[in-house]
Amino acid sequence: MAVTWIDDGKLNFKDQRVFVRVDFNVPLEDDGNGGVVVSDDERVRASLPTLQLLLDKGARLILASHLGRPKGHDPKQSLLPVAGCLQSHLKRDVIFADDCVGDGVKKLAHDLKAGQVLLLENLRYHSGEEKNDEGFARQLAALCDVYVNDAFGAAHRAHASTAGMAAFVDKKAGGLLLKKEAETLYGLLRQPKKPFVAIIGGAKVSDKIGVVTKLLGKVDKILIGGAMAYTFLASKGVATGKSRTEPDKLNVARTVLEGAAQRGVQILLPVDHVAATEFAEGAAAIDTATLADDQMGLDVGAATRKLYAEAIVGAGTVLWNGPMGVFEWASFAKGTMAVAEAVASSGAFTVVGGGDSVAALNQSGLAAKISHVSTGGGASLELLEGRKLPGLLALGYEF
Ligand code: AMP
Repeated sequence: MAVTWIDDGKLNFKDQRVFVRVDFNVPLEDDGNGGVVVSDDERVRASLPTLQLLLDKGARLILASHLGRPKGHDPKQSLLPVAGCLQSHLKRDVIFADDCVGDGVKKLAHDLKAGQVLLLENLRYHSGEEKNDEGFARQLAALCDVYVNDAFGAAHRAHASTAGMAAFVDKKAGGLLLKKEAETLYGLLRQPKKPFVAIIGGAKVSDKIGVVTKLLGKVDKILIGGAMAYTFLASKGVATGKSRTEPDKLNVARTVLEGAAQRGVQILLPVDHVAATEFAEGAAAIDTATLADDQMGLDVGAATRKLYAEAIVGAGTVLWNGPMGVFEWASFAKGTMAVAEAVASSGAFTVVGGGDSVAALNQSGLAAKISHVSTGGGASLELLEGRKLPGLLALGYEF
């Protein structure tokens, strides 16, 4: 069975109770008046095309999401502030249910009229969500006539709302965000325009090794930065001082370097660094090509920034995931910003994934110049590792 998307005209949404699994896992902050507001509404905005399409077709909308990792009912992780945010975007009332299952919710869902929107409380207040409990999945399914999954950020989870409940609803479809993410990211693995350059950074080799290994068969070059670069350098016998490394991953790094050499894939590692003698925001930044015993690399240096920018020019496709250094601290953000600029101005088909790279892009004001900014960090990594995401599998996606 091939997946049905909400815009391919196969399903009728008029007067239907449509349960949309959205990704409203947004950051919250105090509003200064004792209330709580959404501090970054990017994920809410990303869901709007799907919600608007369904409303235009006369659906009755039931929206559900998780937020954070509550252990049971936790008012600090309530989706109530999201209702206000969504209301201002949709320019219509959003009814908020203080739970996601139970008689009260059933009645609210039943009484919904076409064009009305009901937002359910945090799915993770119930342990059945993450356990993919069948009883809980059936309760969610009983609320609706049609199930739509648009939560790409949670599509790598086999939870009740992202996977389990699909088995108990006859009519199901993928939303526009899920469609765009799946088509773009699987497209990178299927037929990327060459040359294909991947830039992989971040904290740990262990988090990214699956993607790097998968990409070896697809890309022409991989540029490595962030703390993970030091494990690669250490595996080649380069002195890394006090840099963050994973000693138990040296063999993995060596295997990747050997695999790349066999396949003719060029792997670029930092040739110089912005270092410090302590891991602190105010630490003095030292530009150096070699790391002394008391130094740790916290960003890539000027020569590396130039080398990486040159490697990106002329690419047909660029994939970027993970910062080049401790970009949260201004003294160690230059490498990440240089990559953001090079990617944005490359003229290639550009895809950026992962919370930190997206944050850096937003910080630099360059996000609008990127072809596709993924809304899912973990989901995009697992997809690019070649794994079949449970959220897509449940809809019948053909991989
Ligand atoms: P990840 O979540 O794996 O993408 O890693 C992102 C985190 O890695 C960010 O919080 C960065 O501050 C951190 N990071 C990047 N480069 C380094 C480095 N050279 N040393 C220590 N931490 C780093």
